[in-house]
Amino acid sequence: MEAKIKTIPLARLSSGDDLTLQVYQFFGNPSGKKVYIQANLHGAEIVGNVVIRQLMSWLQSLDRGQLWGEVWLLPACNPLGMNQRSHFFSSGRYNPYDGKDWNRIFGVEEDGERATFAQKYLNSSQDTIYHAYLDHLKSQLNNAQSFQTSGTSYGVKYGNLLQSLCLDADIVIDLHSSSNEGINYLFTFPKQDESAKAFLLDVGLVVQQPGGYTFDEAFLKPWLSLEETFAQLGRSLNFNLESWTLELGGGMTANPQSVEKGVTGIKNYLAQKGVVNVSDFPLPETKDHHIYLADKSQLKKYYATTGGIIETYPPLRTPVKAGASLYQILEMNKKEHSPQLMTVTAEESGFIFDVGKNQAVNEGEYVLSVLETGDNYDA
Ligand SMILES: [Zn+2]
Repeated sequence: MEAKIKTIPLARLSSGDDLTLQVYQFFGNPSGKKVYIQANLHGAEIVGNVVIRQLMSWLQSLDRGQLWGEVWLLPACNPLGMNQRSHFFSSGRYNPYDGKDWNRIFGVEEDGERATFAQKYLNSSQDTIYHAYLDHLKSQLNNAQSFQTSGTSYGVKYGNLLQSLCLDADIVIDLHSSSNEGINYLFTFPKQDESAKAFLLDVGLVVQQPGGYTFDEAFLKPWLSLEETFAQLGRSLNFNLESWTLELGGGMTANPQSVEKGVTGIKNYLAQKGVVNVSDFPLPETKDHHIYLADKSQLKKYYATTGGIIETYPPLRTPVKAGASLYQILEMNKKEHSPQLMTVTAEESGFIFDVGKNQAVNEGEYVLSVLETGDNYDA
């Protein structure tokens, strides 16, 4: 099966060049789910592009009859962020025009009309409700976009465009990585615990209360809120939509092990969901796969308590004990003293989840993260 390739204009640059997005669409049986997968929303987080390339080859090797629904793949989804450099380094986490994190620009205004909507459709079929609310979301997104001569800021236009591509999806997967050195894990939401296993990763962070500004949250939140509004009126609905962010290793790199984890996890998940019908997935271990689902609040970031050079860094996944040494920082100590090595201890037990790329830190700069699991977790 070949992909339909669609190039979407994004913006014309001052040089006359055009920024575009390119989406690869695989269409199978039209009554199945729509899956939307994008990569590289944060400029340094390139690994998902390699994952998408491998997924594309896999889908190309299948017959149309093996795909139940459609899969949209959008690599290099943020050209402005991806191409940003400082010396050899990709920064690309913030929109240079307004300083906003590229993954905090999404979502629509809190919907004041939801209660009225729910009253109106209280006795309608779930399918009717879904389509009516989808139309409502589409018009909200269009209203936020100015089509007049006053134009629209790049950030708003870009955010709306990206959201519009997945508004009617059933499954959204946003591929990220750490900006630093990180483990492979996923972000998930309540009610997705069973599906989370299918990615075959061993750690997940659960977003209990989606704020709605990240890409994954912006897709899911309106529907969760709608389910809640109907529940308050005594009607139980489940739109059966799922949203994920996969975090695959470190920034500015496509670590082969992280790529492999991402590709296998997504193939397995799509097979488990019945989107693809292949003989080798889902893997038999899916049902019993254990994923440790932590609350986002268990992730403790450590910031440098003084400026200096981090002399010893613990490798990722190293277990740490409360009160034991976590890292050592070499303080230059210019006030007529010799440099001194200071030890920073762990506040709680857990394991090393993410470490900074730059071992020179100013006081208050990010050093590492510990996932606080208590003493009984085997990382
Ligand atoms: Zn990211």
